[in-house]
Amino acid sequence: MTAQTTDGTIPPVTDVAGDLESAAGEPVAGEPLADAAPPAGRRCFGDGDPVYERYHDTEWGVRPEPTVDERELLERLALEGFQSGLAWIIVLRKREAFRAAFADFAPDVVAGFGPDDVERLLADPGIVRNRRKIEATIRNAQALVALHAEGGRLWDVLERYRPEPRATPPASYAEVPTDTPESIALAKELKRLGFTFVGPVTTYATMQAVGLVDDHLATCPVRAA
Ligand SMILES: [Zn+2]
Repeated sequence: MTAQTTDGTIPPVTDVAGDLESAAGEPVAGEPLADAAPPAGRRCFGDGDPVYERYHDTEWGVRPEPTVDERELLERLALEGFQSGLAWIIVLRKREAFRAAFADFAPDVVAGFGPDDVERLLADPGIVRNRRKIEATIRNAQALVALHAEGGRLWDVLERYRPEPRATPPASYAEVPTDTPESIALAKELKRLGFTFVGPVTTYATMQAVGLVDDHLATCPVRAA
């Protein structure tokens, strides 16, 4: 997920993946960034939508502990990739359908998906039907399986690019980047490892999602919890 406006929409992003097209006729969010600090007590995003609120409160910016599940990381990376150019809530509402379509993101299963699976996925109205994103997810599963075969872990790769924690929480989205030197370096490393559709905006969104960075705004109730 990329930076959100306080009403839960996202601005369009330009990633090196270059994917701004609308998949399956779904809308591309085009709201400008809200630069003003939101009122105290308001979530960074998601207020009023239970699915979105739960994601904001319990997943976004929360480091998975104590054992990071590589299957879950593949799911999170895939969802961030599918989100590119779309509002995050669209992907979030389709999450269960994505899990069903992608074998619960079991890396070894997805890595074995062939042309028939791609066609099945392109015909699945429950997910974002975008061939490039579907094929990227399969390729990323293959890259993850290869990484595991060498004794590596995706979490360890991500952690190597964890930046120093912020000195102060962001006051507004004007202070939340869409990419950083660390996310640019992470994108480069993931590409070297065979991952695709992982530009610096997608990798930064992933860093936010899995808690490598904490971009909850200063006014967010999560900060006070
Ligand atoms: Zn927040």
